[in-house]
Amino acid sequence: MTKQYEVIVCGGGMVGAATACALALGGIRVALLDRFNPERQWPSEPIDNRVSALTKASQNILEMLGAWPGMTQRGVCAYRDMRVWDARGDGELHFDCADTSFSELGHLVENRVTVAAIWDVLDTLPSASCITPAKVIGMQLTDNNRLLRLEDGRILEAELVIAADGRDSALRSLAGIKVTGWEYHQDGLVATVSTEKSHQFTAWQRFLDEGPLAFLPLNNGQCSIVWTLSSATAKNYLSLSDQDFLKVLEQASGGILGRMLSVGPRAAFPLRFQYANNYVDQRFALCGDAAHAMHPLAGQGVNAGLLDAAALAELILLSKQDHRPLSSLRFLRRYERWRKGDNLAMMASMDVLNKTYRVSAQPLVSLRSAGMNCINNTALLKTYFNNYAMGLRDDLPKLAKHQLCW
Ligand SMILES: Cc1cc2nc3c(=O)[nH]c(=O)nc-3n(C[C@H](O)[C@H](O)[C@H](O)COP(=O)(O)OP(=O)(O)OC[C@H]3O[C@@H](n4cnc5c(N)ncnc54)[C@H](O)[C@@H]3O)c2cc1C
Repeated sequence: MTKQYEVIVCGGGMVGAATACALALGGIRVALLDRFNPERQWPSEPIDNRVSALTKASQNILEMLGAWPGMTQRGVCAYRDMRVWDARGDGELHFDCADTSFSELGHLVENRVTVAAIWDVLDTLPSASCITPAKVIGMQLTDNNRLLRLEDGRILEAELVIAADGRDSALRSLAGIKVTGWEYHQDGLVATVSTEKSHQFTAWQRFLDEGPLAFLPLNNGQCSIVWTLSSATAKNYLSLSDQDFLKVLEQASGGILGRMLSVGPRAAFPLRFQYANNYVDQRFALCGDAAHAMHPLAGQGVNAGLLDAAALAELILLSKQDHRPLSSLRFLRRYERWRKGDNLAMMASMDVLNKTYRVSAQPLVSLRSAGMNCINNTALLKTYFNNYAMGLRDDLPKLAKHQLCW
């Protein structure tokens, strides 16, 4: 028999789970599907190598959803400073939480921590049904609903389907929504490392010829690294022994954290610039990486996705309060206008930054160093960039401003 819901969210990663949670808190009968069962428990060590820097705006959303306590209990690491510098020139940027009204700039959190904490909240919500493993392989639009066909033959039905199934979204293809973008031919190499010197709860980022190398502080004193490299170099570095890898890493770090002592499992993710040409269609919406994939150099992908989740949930709940259909195209298009421009601006700035730092011609190196130093020494500019990086900009959805939307 076909199971019916008001909304089905496909993809239970950070963004899909947050979307489903916000809708369920607003009393909407929502099903959250994922092809895998998310990890809910694990030993405290080792720390996973998939870690994200979450902005203040994301923290607000996760607090309003009730997930933040479960995250702090599992482990989050506040960072108070951010230092960015250019390996070729003398440009540097320093952001310090002392220049803001907050006690930290953001938090480093394992992705699995965020997912598990949101799923814990979902378990307590009577209007939420979590269905796993559930791989969607087909989708059909009917007069009143969308039907989803799962790999195991089950059929689910809802007034509105939200795809949060990642950058290779199957649902986006099933809906016939095209994407625009290109491969960077760069990979993001990630690992957890121990360093001789303390990270001082600072996010360090050094721009090198192939891309930035970031050391992100973790609570146990280790650092999570995100190292952008050409795909060929990343492949080569994955194949090195731990000792050889630590040597190249130490050299690339410029010695900022002293000797590199040990490294955990390494992985590399191909990077892509990609956006969906449309975020919505009849009874259908995209959010998170399914709508946009961006370069990780400023750690904004999931932060943008959580803003999508908050904006989409706010408008769907508004539609319900107005006694309109949940899939009202008027509200869905508002969501698209709201989030697409913001996401494109963010993606374009990451793209320009990535290209700017790959240039090695001396006049351009001097120019970009002058630019960095100018921002660093101009209070107004610095505050603007700091607020932007913390996700504190105009036109945020209510949850991101720490306000309820239900
Ligand atoms: C190296 C690297 C570092 C990064 N660092 C940061 C950072 O510091 N800060 C930041 O904000 N962002 C960062 N990002 C980006 C961030 O990881 C992504 O934006 C984020 O994970 C996207 O979340 P999502 O929920 O949209 O998608 P995903 O995390 O991809 O989740 C998609 C979910 O959908 C499920 N799914 C897929 N297909 C189906 C199907 N057919 N049926 C059912 N379920 C399905 C999957 O199992 C998965 O659970 C980084 C990315 C990389 C590569």
